[in-house]
Amino acid sequence: MTGVALGEFALIDRYFRDRGAQRADVRLGVGDDGALLRLPPGEDLVAVSDTLVDGVHFPSGSDPRSVGHRALAVNLSDIAAMGGTPRWALLSLTLPSVDEAWLEAFAAGFGDLALGHGVALVGGDTTRGPLTIGVQVLGSVPAGQGLRRSGARAGDALFVSGTPGDAAAGLASLMGRSEGTDHRTGTDAPTDAAAFEARFLFPTPRVALGQALLPLASACIDVSDGLVGDLGKLAAASGCAAVLDVDALPSKAPRHCVLHGGDDYELLFTVPPARVAAVAALPGVTRIGEIRAGEGVSLREAGRETAAASAAGPAGPAGYDHFAR
Ligand code: ADP
Ligand code: MG
Repeated sequence: MTGVALGEFALIDRYFRDRGAQRADVRLGVGDDGALLRLPPGEDLVAVSDTLVDGVHFPSGSDPRSVGHRALAVNLSDIAAMGGTPRWALLSLTLPSVDEAWLEAFAAGFGDLALGHGVALVGGDTTRGPLTIGVQVLGSVPAGQGLRRSGARAGDALFVSGTPGDAAAGLASLMGRSEGTDHRTGTDAPTDAAAFEARFLFPTPRVALGQALLPLASACIDVSDGLVGDLGKLAAASGCAAVLDVDALPSKAPRHCVLHGGDDYELLFTVPPARVAAVAALPGVTRIGEIRAGEGVSLREAGRETAAASAAGPAGPAGYDHFAR
């Protein structure tokens, strides 16, 4: 902990004490050396952590309300992918300086989403340095029932929530604008640009869907690094191959965004044949392929199948990789 202008403790008090939901399972929240939390009997703890770095995970100068929302949303999405119920969050905030207008909007973006999901902010850390937001979310799942990437089997159907590809199209659109050009990503309708940008700035973690999938899905992953790459991870973890029906993908974003774009925070999951009808009846999900014996991801388009092509650069075939060159 490094002191910052407003005073570190005044800052924590003003912006982060009592953020999010008040929960009866919090014995002790912000203010002591640690939080004391009660997990219900018969539940496994689900623990996730994700960090946003200025200029890496969001464009520098982004709307602070969006930054606060996304910092929590990406973690809630990981909880959703496990079928978990989020309960508590920790926030490790590194700030270059104390900008109260920025903090107010950031805390509102974080706090509103936390409130909406019944999550209490129970602790964190505040330091000075390059803008970086680390969040941990703790939640729970009925013992032994958490969803994994590794449960898919040949013959399972493949589903996705929402419209993956939209967020990447939105980010491209935002970057184009902030660079002062009218560079567009290949979509025509201007209304799509605003809708795509909203998908990047304010993603919707699919927490209720993840919980509904607990008795239904055989495997689940959240789409954070690109559909093809994340599908490859699920298939590899399950020891199977996957076929993606490109024509079934519901996004209207450009093809590269749909196949390889990141930041959607949708759920990609597999369903055994006997449960397909129950899943197809859930709102906001689309059947987009199937699991087979073998390995790797193929794309099926106009009746033809090809091995999924590599994307150049860090957004490669295995999804976004921070250390790829
Ligand atoms: P310590 O010195 O014991 O690490 P700190 O001074 O870092 O404690 O933090 C004081 C209290 O404020 C702790 O309960 C900590 O969890 C909480 N806290 C610090 N920063 C944040 C933050 N950004 N959001 C929420 N809680 C925070
Ligand atoms: Mg500390």
